Amino acid sequence: MGTTEPDTGGLAVVLPSPLVELRDLRLDEHEVRVYLKRDDLIHPEVSGNKWRKLKYNLAAAKEQGHSRLLTFGGAYSNHVRAMAAAGYYFGFETVGVIRGEEHLPLNESLVYAVDRGMTLTYLDRTTYRRKTEPDVLAALVDDFGPCCVVPEGGSNGPGVRGCAELPGEIEIDFDVVCCATGSGGTVAGIAAGLTGNQRALGFAVLKGGQFLDAEVRRLQGEGFGVETANWALVHDFHFGGYAKHKPELGSFIADFDTRHGITLDWVYEAKMMYGLFDRVASGAFARGSTVVAVLS
Ligand SMILES: *Cc1c(COP(=O)(O)O)cnc(C)c1O
Repeated sequence: MGTTEPDTGGLAVVLPSPLVELRDLRLDEHEVRVYLKRDDLIHPEVSGNKWRKLKYNLAAAKEQGHSRLLTFGGAYSNHVRAMAAAGYYFGFETVGVIRGEEHLPLNESLVYAVDRGMTLTYLDRTTYRRKTEPDVLAALVDDFGPCCVVPEGGSNGPGVRGCAELPGEIEIDFDVVCCATGSGGTVAGIAAGLTGNQRALGFAVLKGGQFLDAEVRRLQGEGFGVETANWALVHDFHFGGYAKHKPELGSFIADFDTRHGITLDWVYEAKMMYGLFDRVASGAFARGSTVVAVLS
């Protein structure tokens, strides 16, 4: 770290994000306490971990004199939305490179990005897989001009350094932090910010996400120059793949909403929370454990 606190521009962020206990009999039965770290309340437009990942990226872009940001994501990417909002509030032009073909009318997420001034472009799935290779990047720069390239999910060195600040905001004793894992940056950063015997558990939201274990290690190397051994990924709760879901996930979301008045996002939060309750039920957490679950 050691970086000075970046300017938050016109963005009124709520930090530290609130920590609230989740009271639920299904947890009491196993004597596990769960607290929600409400990163979803950091800003109405920039979901929480996306802000954490963007803040040092924006600071670096500004320092390097860039006026344009370019990033990548799927058509429902929260990161693409967050970049569009950040561009709007911080005065950067933004380009969103979207995986796959254009589908009209645009979905609500992409309509929002365009409303915030983002220029959208599309790469077929084969080219998208090669998006970090020099020829693909050069073609994008040819089309859109010089720009600061922020990787998919905002996960890079500055991104994970931003996420490493989350544990330090938690003022209670806790054993485990749980989060949803898409590109791996959030869990990589959180794990690096833990102390003592605390551990981080990332619930992969994509199918075949085993590559993410190596990716988390790579991101820790990029962000901190060291890897930590205090984290693990759970691969059993992807519900068929990224942005896919099954009826039992829908029922879980509805039931959670009824019990707690919180509508979990089905791409990320619901899969993590389903997995967390499943593991509590199977006795994976010792009695007396305290878990912090991150909503973003
Ligand atoms: C992006 C996102 C994640 C995943 O974070 P990664 O750093 O990509 O692993 C988790 N939860 C929510 C709500 C998100 O928007």
